[in-house]
Amino acid sequence: MKKLILAVLIVALTFTALSEYFLLHYYVKFGDTLIEIADSFGVSPSTILDWNPNIDPRYLKAGQELLIPIPDGIIYEVKKGDTLDTIAKRFFTVVDVIKEANNLIGSIIFPGQKLFIPLEAVGIAFNDTKTLIWPVYGEISSPFGWRIHPITKRWSFHTGIDIAAPEGTPIFAADSGVVEYAGWKSGYGNFIIINHGLYKTAYGHLSKIDVFVGQYVTRGELIGRVGNTGISTGPHLHFEVRYRNRYTNPVTYLPSPAKKYVLSVERRWMGGK
Ligand SMILES: [Zn+2]
Repeated sequence: MKKLILAVLIVALTFTALSEYFLLHYYVKFGDTLIEIADSFGVSPSTILDWNPNIDPRYLKAGQELLIPIPDGIIYEVKKGDTLDTIAKRFFTVVDVIKEANNLIGSIIFPGQKLFIPLEAVGIAFNDTKTLIWPVYGEISSPFGWRIHPITKRWSFHTGIDIAAPEGTPIFAADSGVVEYAGWKSGYGNFIIINHGLYKTAYGHLSKIDVFVGQYVTRGELIGRVGNTGISTGPHLHFEVRYRNRYTNPVTYLPSPAKKYVLSVERRWMGGK
């Protein structure tokens, strides 16, 4: 009997050592709110929404099951062409964090593989020297201003910039503010507007919305995932800045494209374990 207990204990310890996170199944109690549940487990409300995309964040039902990862983190599914380096950049973190969280020894990953990304170290490479941080790590595929529309082929005004990135790439709040819109909008697909006071930022074509109307989000917080919803020719983020309700060129508020990811020695030391 003692041997059996010992064997079970060893298996349990090995399992704990191999999996760097576990999923808790929480059953909503009458009167629970998303924010309270998130607080009590030390995760962000965005994380709970990311793991449980089909819930209505403002009207949780008693008895409803929620998946909650401990520690706080989300899953990224590897796409063709991804490397650990590009994935680390898309989360504004470092490769070591991802390797450690997934017990990867080498650097081989494969499409479809699910990686756990602990949110604690996400964002250590944000460049926060301008008004806004880059909401997504990617290249500008279509600039702000007049252009021939890629779908309608008509001369039209592009109200934001398009940032190309694979489906599922995290989108971060470009600045702190209150979520004013989170839902479907014709043309934009899944769409978010954040109100920052004098100006607003808007995010279109998302595959997933991880925030709800009225939620206060801090700069760099996860708000959703890149997708291809609405009128769109491929996965990208349509990003707008509306200064006093006028469309303005987001580029003027962002660090230069070459400096969207900045990792100082000090930050690397803080982020690396
Ligand atoms: Zn666009």
